[in-house]
Amino acid sequence: MRGNGMNDLIKVPFSSFLPIENELKGELDSCFKRVLERSWYIKGEEGRNFEEQFAKYCGAKYCVGVGNGLDAIMLALRAVGVGNGDEVIIPAHTFIATALAITYCGATPVMVDIDEKTFCINPNKIIEKITKRTKAIIVVHLYGHSCNMDAIMQVAKENDLEIIEDCAQAHGCMYKGRHVGTFGKVGCFSFYPGKNLGALGDAGAVITNDKKTMETIRALGNYGSDKKYHHLYKGVNSRLDELQAAFLGVKLSCLDKMNNERITIASKYLTKIKNNNIELPKEDNNVKHVWHIFAIKCEERDRLQEYLENRGVGTNIHYPIPIHLQPCYKDLGYLKGDYPIAEKVCDTELSLPMFYGMTNEEIEYVIDVINDFR
Ligand SMILES: *Cc1c(COP(=O)(O)O)cnc(C)c1O
Repeated sequence: MRGNGMNDLIKVPFSSFLPIENELKGELDSCFKRVLERSWYIKGEEGRNFEEQFAKYCGAKYCVGVGNGLDAIMLALRAVGVGNGDEVIIPAHTFIATALAITYCGATPVMVDIDEKTFCINPNKIIEKITKRTKAIIVVHLYGHSCNMDAIMQVAKENDLEIIEDCAQAHGCMYKGRHVGTFGKVGCFSFYPGKNLGALGDAGAVITNDKKTMETIRALGNYGSDKKYHHLYKGVNSRLDELQAAFLGVKLSCLDKMNNERITIASKYLTKIKNNNIELPKEDNNVKHVWHIFAIKCEERDRLQEYLENRGVGTNIHYPIPIHLQPCYKDLGYLKGDYPIAEKVCDTELSLPMFYGMTNEEIEYVIDVINDFR
């Protein structure tokens, strides 16, 4: 247990970076020393090495490091030509960044309800939202579980739409043995510290098999510059810095080990949590789930969360408000009831503790406390 005194209520945190950081401290320290000694901080050897290493890990031809996950999606959209007046389809249940990336391009996000079982976009409901203005679909591999890529690729092909994959929660996740991010034109990753592969600050990347797309994204993220002081596009400043790239290289070599541990924790939760008030998450047979989030559902979610908090178990809600009901998107004119499944998930979802280095004692404690919930 992590509590360190009689009055310390936190027995199991929702998440902790300490176990992996303690394990890698020596290597992370030497990254810092190496970068400092080289005295080169943006667009250098560390960035190039990480890009190569990450592309190889995912089975993609190219990787471009960028500033964060939001920029990764925004730059991918710009690279496939999304702009003013276009529409882009997204799931109604995702982190706000998926929608904001579209807004930043001058385009409009169009929501599609999710599948109850996987929490991901329902491919059967995409078609009814396609208009003349629809340019692309952003699929989100939410909570570490892949979308149904066969069905989505089919819809995209039939309607001549680009696919962008938001893989911010799905590093290492696979669909039919192939890494997510390699199905669409571009796969977008965030390395925010809390993700399955996290930097020690903000960072992100895109992967693609298309050379032109790679070059466009690289230029767009570097002031639209294809060569020094020559600006092809009205770009932005969004680059992966050398220090974060070096840290990420070290963390990447542990990604499979960290994901495997998440898988072990998830399978303990799945086999040992037994409570009729709680619905456990499911995993599609075609998917290697990497459990970024272990999402349970409970009709009395708020009471369960408070109950767990009182017993020292940290939890979170991903997410309490669906995109279409966010105040910032009031202008889109959506109403409560427009996306019933997303809304239901927002009202009932609770995320349990899940992190590399969680002890067996901590896992068993969470299970016992949940099983005693009445
Ligand atoms: C975290 C996240 C992002 C944004 O990543 P940042 O690095 O925080 O900008 C985008 N989409 C999803 C689904 C995320 O979870």
